Amino acid sequence: MKERDKQQRADNPTYLAEGSRASSTAVPNFLHEPTQSRWDRLWEWVGPSSPKVSLKIFSAGSCRHPEWVTIRGGSLRSIRIPALFACIEHPEAGAVLFDTGYSERFFRETDPFPARLYRMVTPVDFEKGQSALERLIAVGVDPSDIRHIIVSHFHADHVAGLRDFPNARFFYEREALDSMRQLKGIGAVKRGFLPGLLPDDFDRRASPFSSESRVEVPPDLLPGFPFRRITDVLGDGSLLAVDLPGHAYGQIGLLLRTEQGPALLCADAAWSAAAYRENRPPSGLAGIIMPDRKAYASSFRALRQLHEAFPELTIIASHCPEAEQAYTKGGEGGIEP
Ligand SMILES: [Zn+2]
Repeated sequence: MKERDKQQRADNPTYLAEGSRASSTAVPNFLHEPTQSRWDRLWEWVGPSSPKVSLKIFSAGSCRHPEWVTIRGGSLRSIRIPALFACIEHPEAGAVLFDTGYSERFFRETDPFPARLYRMVTPVDFEKGQSALERLIAVGVDPSDIRHIIVSHFHADHVAGLRDFPNARFFYEREALDSMRQLKGIGAVKRGFLPGLLPDDFDRRASPFSSESRVEVPPDLLPGFPFRRITDVLGDGSLLAVDLPGHAYGQIGLLLRTEQGPALLCADAAWSAAAYRENRPPSGLAGIIMPDRKAYASSFRALRQLHEAFPELTIIASHCPEAEQAYTKGGEGGIEP
């Protein structure tokens, strides 16, 4: 165990209490199991042959916000916030995307008012070559080969590249889009939704999660695991969506089984690893864009619980500067977490 994690556990009486509870469940040796095999229980339960995938992280543009908005106790200085997306290589489905970051289309959509207010409140830095489309071409992925895009939620910084993938189907929580489509004009802009970013034939290619794809996780299966319901996105146990609502209605994260171990793409449930590691959620001001602050707080707690109970789990937040530095080689992708 890493020194930092040892320290964190020692500092954290809640974790110790949870650990002792876990050890008295039906799986008494849980705490002594090799870390990989406890996850194997989840994978094997969800799909006996759930394949391993590989994961690459890229950035597609960035924006700027004062640090104190994104994390409690942050400074007044403006910080750069990358818009990360993931390309998951699946043995049968090929390259699967999780979100897309910004693209040039974002600027076209935010030219007229009221959408221009979005750009004024959230200044976006984006250069040619930084879109998901261009990032993927640069690493040899043909955009027309992308058949699956999993959308965490429908804020512009996650969906601005959807139009660039003409053969993709879109997978998401139905409520995430239904709640946005009820909003019009300035109301939609205030919630970060720009309907023009969606492809014209979006509905034809949409595959919102069906009730059949959802599974209830038995409470004893993986002690400390905070999610009771998961969605088996491709039906083979390889990509598991978990509910992380609050930042947006119906926001999801994605759990993956990679060669390097388990990983969670947690979208905007936290804006950085520092936030959940140090228990510093965003300021109340950031709550203005959140439709459900209570749900946000419980999603944030779930992340903290995961981080503490499963130090071997790699958690990647969509706007985390540390993750960008560690995994993207200046945005270009290529380092597997
Ligand atoms: Zn975002």
